Amino acid sequence: MPWSRHSRRTHGAARAAAVAALLLVLLASAPSAEEKQLSIYGPRVSYSLPVSEHDGQEYVSLLEALEPFGNVSAGVAGAKWKLRFNKLEAEFRQNATVGKVAGQKFGLPAPFVLENNRGLVPLHALPAILGLMLATRTEYHEAGRRLFLGGAATHFTTDLRENGLSVNFSAPVNPLISTEPGKLVMTFTRDPVVANAYILKLENALVSSLTFVESNGQAELVVLGRVPLLAQFAADRRAIEIVPAPREAQSAPPAAVLGTAPEAGTALAAVAVPAPPTLQSLTARPPFVVMLDPGHGGDDRGALLSDTLEEKGVTLAFARRLRSELQGHGISALLSRDADVTVAVEQRAAMADAARVAVYISLHAASQGRGVRVYTAMINSASSKPGGFVPWDTAQARYVLSSRALADLVKAELSKHEIANSELSAPVKPLNNVAAAALAIEVAPSGADVGSVNAGVYQQRIAAAIAEAIVVGRARVEAER
Ligand SMILES: [Zn+2]
Repeated sequence: MPWSRHSRRTHGAARAAAVAALLLVLLASAPSAEEKQLSIYGPRVSYSLPVSEHDGQEYVSLLEALEPFGNVSAGVAGAKWKLRFNKLEAEFRQNATVGKVAGQKFGLPAPFVLENNRGLVPLHALPAILGLMLATRTEYHEAGRRLFLGGAATHFTTDLRENGLSVNFSAPVNPLISTEPGKLVMTFTRDPVVANAYILKLENALVSSLTFVESNGQAELVVLGRVPLLAQFAADRRAIEIVPAPREAQSAPPAAVLGTAPEAGTALAAVAVPAPPTLQSLTARPPFVVMLDPGHGGDDRGALLSDTLEEKGVTLAFARRLRSELQGHGISALLSRDADVTVAVEQRAAMADAARVAVYISLHAASQGRGVRVYTAMINSASSKPGGFVPWDTAQARYVLSSRALADLVKAELSKHEIANSELSAPVKPLNNVAAAALAIEVAPSGADVGSVNAGVYQQRIAAAIAEAIVVGRARVEAER
């Protein structure tokens, strides 16, 4: 757990594109308790399927997954459920974990479920089944529930200029765009948009960062801005230009217009821009969002926990579990990185502060000790005017009591879940620089086996305890923002 290791910053590549102006749409999107879904992206088709749960496992209908690709039929024959797709077959039995796919014996990670004659397979088995049935390469982004077939992918580059940011795509895109003060979100459901780096720290008068996030069958590009922003599509839909919202639009009341982008070529389709961040809106409380910061990544592998286990991978796996656990409780969660990329320690705090999150949690893993250690900053509590400038070195001072209250709750929930734990204050980077309730959580093995730090069941128990603590502590954290 090298807390203070600094790492190099990574920047995205840049490329320019001409953009025809087309004003767009915009409004704060309320986070809703969404249905779980999987998105599948093929070379010519993309679609989403509902994900259902049986005995705590996620399932999808195999017939519906194959339908967009050709002739498919299925039915029950004796004890077997048989599916035919073009000339291939798959067969499974109710509650069995072994079946057949395209002539091969096929093991499932959880029992096959037959529900109203619909054959449901565990979500985790679907990439391999589709790979065999469609004879294609598959790539599954588990945390985001996005499955890519046959190399389907739309890449993007960014080009930051003095007064705008262009995001240029390798194929036409059609995101849903929403804004709230200081933030513009492009949500891609049907476009197989993928990123090489997940966070780009961008510096100009307009934009402070661009983050790529995948969750629940969607990808989002989140732009944090210093002024109200507006998105404009190029006519070919291969570029989106982010510019400052015009002044007259800024003073207009927000209109409730949401939807996909207008047809290219239409004039001024809809304008709805949130109020500029005046003093009043800056002091208004931003939404309750938790930033999870998986320690290390990229060039910085963190501690070598065993011969094969690097801390950077353990922290990322745990962050993803904790994110879905929080989302399951209706709490919005962001990851500071959702890939194996290098992010400087200071940049992590800067991202939390720029996003004005309510809670920041730095995640680490260790091979020594047992259970979970919960750290808060070693800093004296101090009051400062909300909305005023906060000194970087002591940004945590105003929040440290709130941080400790939350740490107490995490400790209590861990004990309730019978996970060994301890709570300490320590000079852990970058907690002092975070202007929000901030913790560092270090996961050590459950017993003698070091590999347990990376075990799904163990991580899941810890994630559940932390999420419950945040649910219980939310009101207290909100009261001190
Ligand atoms: Zn560490």
